Parts: sequence; C-alpha cells; structure tokens
Amino acid sequence: MPSAPVDKSKSYFPLAGSASDGWSTEEEATATCFCGAVQLKFPTQGPGFVETFLCHCADCRKITASMFASNFIILDTHFTHVRGRENLTVFGQAKTPASQNTMTNHFCSTCGTLMYRVSTGFPGMSILRIGTVDDFHLHETKLKPRRELFVESRVKWLHSLDGVRQFEGMGARESW
Ligand SMILES: [Zn+2]
Ligand SMILES: [Zn+2]
Repeated sequence: MPSAPVDKSKSYFPLAGSASDGWSTEEEATATCFCGAVQLKFPTQGPGFVETFLCHCADCRKITASMFASNFIILDTHFTHVRGRENLTVFGQAKTPASQNTMTNHFCSTCGTLMYRVSTGFPGMSILRIGTVDDFHLHETKLKPRRELFVESRVKWLHSLDGVRQFEGMGARESW
C-alpha cells in the first residue's frame, strides 16, 4: 500500500531512523544520524550557510555507497554538535580525492551515517549531508543543490539538474 501523500510545501519529518526530535525554524535546523546518537544544528541561511552542491566524483560514490553525494557547506563558527560528538569516528586520507586535499570523514560509530566531511582545501568549513537533515521540506527548498561538481564522472543514466550550474571537477576556485 502506498503511504498517504505528504504536503511537501511545509516542514515535514518522516519516520527515518530512530530519532524523532529533529526540528527546524526560519533560521536553523537539525541533522541527525540514522540511530539518533549524533545530532547537529546549523543555520539554513545567512553568513554561516555557504553553498549546496551535488558531487559525482569517484570518492563520493564510494563513501556514500551511492552514485553521488548531496552536500551543503556550513562555517564551523556557525555549526554545533547538539549531542554525540564523542560517538563520531574520524577517518581521513588524501590519496583519492581528486582535489588532493585531505578529506576527513566524521561517521556515527554506531550506525555508520556520514555526518560531515572536512577538507584541508576549505579551512574553517564543514561539508554536511542534505539527507541527514531532519526536516525534509528543506531538501526541497533551501538545501536544493545550486551546483553539480565532477559532472564528467556522472553515471550515464543520470541527467543534469535543471537550472543548476555544471562544473567539471570542482570548477574554478574563484567561483566559490
Ligand atoms: Zn548513529
Ligand atoms: Zn565528491
């Protein structure tokens, strides 16, 4: 049986994982791992909210176990660990990212959800994951990707997003 239709024009929090205490306001929202042990809080607008993007690079395929990553960038001065920071496993390497930056991944040690990545190429920022954000309305609106990176690596059966800027590799650094 299909579930009842959801009104995506306003905030909605589908049952997704074990936690049910995610929230959002006009300015802020939470992101929670699948088991609920780790929760982050971040701004959804203003100077702390930097950019949103899809990445099709080889690294992102492997680390998401999917075909691309859907990310957003938050200034470290603006994002908070609500709980579970001690439950994050930190793993980084610089061998495979096409940028040659060291990418350090922060996973929930219990459920494996990748909560954010930190790149030596983007000091002072963290790269969070759109799919971990509890209010799914934000996936449709404020967090909708604004650019696609490494489009040359995109699987052939996926098409570019309408109206979204396309870049080979990361694009020119000045464009960020
Ligand atoms: Zn977890
Ligand atoms: Zn990538």
